[in-house]
Amino acid sequence: MGNIVAIVGRPNVGKSTLFNRLTESRQAIVDEASGVTRDRIYGKSEWNGVRFSVVDTGGYAINSEDQFENAIREQVLIAIEEADVIVFVVDVSTGVTDYDEAVAEILRRKAKNVIIAVNKVDNHQQIPEASYFYSMGLNELFPISAINGAGTGELLDHLVKIL
Ligand code: GDP
Ligand code: MG
Repeated sequence: MGNIVAIVGRPNVGKSTLFNRLTESRQAIVDEASGVTRDRIYGKSEWNGVRFSVVDTGGYAINSEDQFENAIREQVLIAIEEADVIVFVVDVSTGVTDYDEAVAEILRRKAKNVIIAVNKVDNHQQIPEASYFYSMGLNELFPISAINGAGTGELLDHLVKIL
């Protein structure tokens, strides 16, 4: 199966909300509580005539900090194995966290095509804050709002180019 896009990132950044927007489905479970998405969920999407599959990662059973970090690490390694493009979602409202750094380090070492989606940029005033995430040493970076759709068109234009 070709053209697989995996959405990775720590819990609560908006991965499932983005998945639902990209796939126009309501398959992924979105919740206020951290880490609530139970399984890897697959959906289909199309942009500018390019079809692709989208994988929403998650499924953490969090009992300890260690387990939490290992779970994220594992999801990222699986995503690198199976995906053609990785969308690494981060949250503009928290800035760069230690978990983001841990994910970024793996992606810098192993990954192929990575797109950073700086999520929760719900209004234009927040766009400059998104550039703080360039400190993770990964390109390209797109400020988006998975909730209202801002910026997602630009992200998708780039995504289908590199698929
Ligand atoms: P996941 O754990 O990474 O899959 O994150 P979810 O998609 O479950 O979202 C976690 C929380 O962030 C939920 O309360 C969402 O409604 C909220 N959220 C997701 N995207 C956005 C966004 O673009 N803007 C804002 N303000 N909140 C968002
Ligand atoms: Mg989720």
